[in-house]
Amino acid sequence: ALRVLTGITTSGTPHLGNYAGAIRPAIAASRMPGVESFYFLADYHALIKVQDPARVQRSTLEIAATWLACGLDPAAVWFYRQSDVPEIAELNWLLTCVAGKGILNRAHAYKAAVDKNASEGVDEDAGISAGLFMYPVLMAADILLFNANKVPVGRDQVQHIEMARDFAQRFNHLYGEHFVLPEAAIEDSVATLPGLDGRKMSKSYDNTIPLFVPKSELKKLIAGIVTDSRLPGEAKDTEGSALMDIFRAFANAEESAAMAEAFKQGIGWGDAKTKLVEQIDREVAPMRERYEALMAKPQDIEALLRDGAARMRAQYATPFMGALREAVGLRDLS
Ligand code: ATP
Repeated sequence: ALRVLTGITTSGTPHLGNYAGAIRPAIAASRMPGVESFYFLADYHALIKVQDPARVQRSTLEIAATWLACGLDPAAVWFYRQSDVPEIAELNWLLTCVAGKGILNRAHAYKAAVDKNASEGVDEDAGISAGLFMYPVLMAADILLFNANKVPVGRDQVQHIEMARDFAQRFNHLYGEHFVLPEAAIEDSVATLPGLDGRKMSKSYDNTIPLFVPKSELKKLIAGIVTDSRLPGEAKDTEGSALMDIFRAFANAEESAAMAEAFKQGIGWGDAKTKLVEQIDREVAPMRERYEALMAKPQDIEALLRDGAARMRAQYATPFMGALREAVGLRDLS
């Protein structure tokens, strides 16, 4: 079977970008025959960016409820919280010991942080945690523990999958063939949604449109999307328009073409925003109702997550980790 793995960092409230870019395609993929899906709440990853325990906890609940509201069937897939699986942290160490530091030096997220420090004239490692530096190793552990062979990612994540392959190859070379080399499934059809400020919509930029805000709030947020100063009657550019980009993610080809034509014909920004609200709400409203019902029973979500991790560990993580421990010369605890 094809093993597909998707994680979302528990660093804030899930947004339209997480939905269109990860959740919707992952749920569609899980319904394909011959696919075994792994979905996890990446709370160890969240600690790299968020040092607010209440935020991590709230986000964990929100992201779990979002997956369920969007149609994930917990009986048909593996659904777990990363930190409920101690084997991930353990494998993280084994991989740390085979990961080349020079490779990690080249990781995009770390390099971007170093470059930012350089441009600001401060010490190049100022404010950078070893967690940020080591992030690709933890991601490799997430993937390799399940021998996931397909990892759907955006272009910016391809490098991390290549690093996971590299660590896996090195481990296999030293200790025998334990790991399948994972491949990135690049989702080119999935656009990166811009946020309210025009940058990538991201939980850590606080520029998001949360997926399940009430419709009245959705209206307010969309009213805040930055547009140019063209008046009604003046033709608008679809290229580089955040409004158009978000619209496309919630529309079929025909509806997108009609909206592009309306832009050309000079639709007013107010009208365009109203259309966008309706377009999103049509898809989101039924899921929003389920989300609210789920959020009212956090203890049910908690029980589901614990059960998911327990079953998954028994099936995969614990025995595999035992074999890996033995392979490197440690005691098999399984
Ligand atoms: P953080 O700021 O904590 O990294 P994020 O909101 O940028 O959070 P992640 O949790 O890292 O997102 O990513 C979860 C999934 O959502 C990934 O598959 C990622 O590609 C996708 N995703 C995140 N932001 C967007 C976006 N703006 N457009 C499309 N997909 C996105």
